[in-house]
Amino acid sequence: MRVRFWGTRGSIPVALTAADIRDKLAQALVQASGKTFSSYEDAHAYATAELDFSLTHTFGGHTPCVEIEVPGDEYYVCDMGSGARPFGVHVLAKQARKPAVVNIFQSHVHWDHIMGFPFFGPAYASGTKIRIYGCHALLEQAFRIQQSPPCFPVSFEQLGATIEFVKLVPEKMIEVGGLKVMPQLQHHSGDSYGYRFEANGKHLVYTTDSEHKLEDRAQTDRFVTLFREADLVIFDAMYSLAEAVSVKEDWGHSSNVVGVELCQMARAKHLVLFHHEPANNDRAIEGAFRDARRLEELTRGDAPPLRISAAYDGLEIDL
Ligand SMILES: [Zn+2]
Ligand SMILES: [Zn+2]
Repeated sequence: MRVRFWGTRGSIPVALTAADIRDKLAQALVQASGKTFSSYEDAHAYATAELDFSLTHTFGGHTPCVEIEVPGDEYYVCDMGSGARPFGVHVLAKQARKPAVVNIFQSHVHWDHIMGFPFFGPAYASGTKIRIYGCHALLEQAFRIQQSPPCFPVSFEQLGATIEFVKLVPEKMIEVGGLKVMPQLQHHSGDSYGYRFEANGKHLVYTTDSEHKLEDRAQTDRFVTLFREADLVIFDAMYSLAEAVSVKEDWGHSSNVVGVELCQMARAKHLVLFHHEPANNDRAIEGAFRDARRLEELTRGDAPPLRISAAYDGLEIDL
């Protein structure tokens, strides 16, 4: 199983500004002062090995869209945030005019999780089959409304693809192609659903837009069960713990700290911080990532280490 992140930002897409790029360049030049490079490759190797991640990368970018690649011809993806546009470019290039079958699992229908669909190229190609899975009664209506006047010029009926909506039942596992899928209700405005996926003995949890109150034992137990020994947990870490328990309590999101605690309780193997706050720059996100790693080291005890990553657009993880 390969997991490919096409969109990792929460709420609204964020682009680097000219000032951000100048700042990264200036800091990189200061770090490299006194060094000489005989070729582009030399400089590239130095940047990769020596410079801070937040100087050589950006945490992105597009709103949620995460592809799950498993053997077979069909595509599987969680959410249609603005990352669905580059994901669609990838699908069309890979298919080379052969019609694609795309299975989409929706956490919910807030705008940041559906806004990429009108720009999803395969939806315009005749012969494409798209199945949109989710637990919300309003699933189809939400996709149709965003693609109707006065908001968008191309209506749903004009799309070339055959589009089917498939209603899922929470906590009931189904099999789609080579993938077992189970949705679970999460605490979020208008409800959201996390998913546990399984293929070839590997387990992936996609849990975004979900607020946790760890003192609620029943809710915590449900999530520990959902995360149990998962190979990878993609987790809503939008806020810092301080924000999540004060000003932004009840805003429907979670923190890096809660992600570490839940994964430790469930003995999950790898936590990916996801749905980054749009107001946070790369340095702030890298700071939250380092804090999460420090916390994990301090609280690990005798348990095996929990690997932690911060998602960025273009990240690929093999399970
Ligand atoms: Zn969201
Ligand atoms: Zn939401």
